[in-house]
Amino acid sequence: MTSGAHFLISWLSTVELLNERRERTIVALSGILPDVDGLGGVVDSITGTTSYYDKYHHYFGHCGLFAVIVSAIAYFLAKSQKKLTCILTYTIIHIHLLCDIIGSKGPDGHQWPIYYFYPFNTDFGLTWSGQWELNAWQNLAIMISLFLGCAFYAIRKRITFIEVISPRLQSAVFQMYDNYKR
Ligand SMILES: [Zn+2]
Repeated sequence: MTSGAHFLISWLSTVELLNERRERTIVALSGILPDVDGLGGVVDSITGTTSYYDKYHHYFGHCGLFAVIVSAIAYFLAKSQKKLTCILTYTIIHIHLLCDIIGSKGPDGHQWPIYYFYPFNTDFGLTWSGQWELNAWQNLAIMISLFLGCAFYAIRKRITFIEVISPRLQSAVFQMYDNYKR
């Protein structure tokens, strides 16, 4: 799935469970962190001669070891609800992997297997025969559901994923909305 979908899934998973913005931000950002192994694509497009994307995408960021390391870092970065932040981070990275397995087929039909046991084993790649393409209707439906979920919390709890970027910006958005309503 796209990084945007991973981000919204991750952030939404925190709203009912984590009380503070700091911990929600840690989990929300951890949910997109596996895609860091796709950044080689940026280098490839600049150099035109390297193939870091093919070489590393779905390897080191999309493996069990990465989930353990990021969860441990999340534990130390959290100031409150440390254990829950750690468990949620570990879970959300695995949900990221699951989402990629079910809905991230490339336009060329390549399934981008998940090398879960990287770097210890690079032969075993996880795929699913029913996997749909990245731009399939299923992903669009999921994205719409995620935005509806975000709208629900914006109305009910006056909280949005914008808090990850800036709480001030979030307040400004609600201020504008309140002024508009008056
Ligand atoms: Zn991914």
